[in-house]
Amino acid sequence: MTTPIRTVMSPGRYVQGKGAIGRLGEFVSQIGSAPLIVADDVVWGFAGEQVSASFAGVGLRVERVEFGRFATAAAVDALVEKIRATKSDVIIGVGGGSTIDSAKAAGFLAGIRWVSVPTVASTDAPTSALSVIYTEEGEFVEYRFFPRNPDLVLIDTQIVADAPVEFLIAGVGDALATWLEARATAAANATTMAGGLPTQTGTALAKLSWDVIWENALPALDAVRDNLVTPALEKLVEANTLLSGLGFESGGLAAAHAIHNGLTAAPQTHGLTHGQKVNIGSLTQLVLEGAPRTEVEDFIEFTTLVGLPTTLTEIGLGLDDEKELRAIATASTLPGETIHNMPFVVTADDVLNALKSIERLSRSVRAARGLPAPVKYVQKH
Ligand SMILES: [Zn+2]
Repeated sequence: MTTPIRTVMSPGRYVQGKGAIGRLGEFVSQIGSAPLIVADDVVWGFAGEQVSASFAGVGLRVERVEFGRFATAAAVDALVEKIRATKSDVIIGVGGGSTIDSAKAAGFLAGIRWVSVPTVASTDAPTSALSVIYTEEGEFVEYRFFPRNPDLVLIDTQIVADAPVEFLIAGVGDALATWLEARATAAANATTMAGGLPTQTGTALAKLSWDVIWENALPALDAVRDNLVTPALEKLVEANTLLSGLGFESGGLAAAHAIHNGLTAAPQTHGLTHGQKVNIGSLTQLVLEGAPRTEVEDFIEFTTLVGLPTTLTEIGLGLDDEKELRAIATASTLPGETIHNMPFVVTADDVLNALKSIERLSRSVRAARGLPAPVKYVQKH
């Protein structure tokens, strides 16, 4: 048995601000001289000009490759080929979580450096040293771990403010789970995504992320509805991206993300965002923990106000979907899943019961607190 260690991982540099994209070339030029940019057509449509101008400013060529919808093994392999063909020495994922995860995985396989440029604050993926690989249908396949984080994470808050607010709502869902999972991992003294025991640093950053979100999420979401960058938005973007990123990686994942991974097994959830599914995982984790009543009720109220799902109905499932719910419970408790970081044993049956219980629980809390009853989300895909 190896000696247990405690460890923290982080990106080399984090840059955030209104107009920060204009300095991308400057920061990338400290890392490499032949950048390859990965961006889908939508992202390139609104960011391409500014990105190109920033590279032109430092005399670097810009090579850009398109991206599909999911970070699949095939998408990663295609990027590795492109890196080799273009002799690039740094790969830059510009866009959402899947684009960034693909760029990281390809950079690692090709042996070059990698940079994350999130255009939305919808997940805490950008800062981490891991990628999540999915199937073409969006089912979870595996985590891929790398020995280091991106050399640079750069996020322009005006671009975040110009994006549809749904992305930021999803980011809140993903980031709120961070503290719930880090606190469980710390209680169990279990292994974090950084490959060691939790540090005070990782756990504290996870808690800070939670506190900043409760204070700033609602005003920040309103600011983004009018495409405005405010101090609340700056704080929320940092909480969703940097604090949550460091917090989940070095603080640890537990039940919420395992249940998210389980949910991807149900076709009904395929059009939902990562953060929406994670929020169902967070609430289910609170139930599994037997968390204090006020904590559970406040969580339901707050995340309902944010615009996140807290019932099966909203994510297209119901108590009658026994087959799907059982498949979710089984997938979320597979050996190696982070649910086994909980400070007590969790079986598939435990998850099944907890998951079913959130429907009536959430409906009761929402009714008691004057919040609207749940309706099925209209899915975009
Ligand atoms: Zn996540």
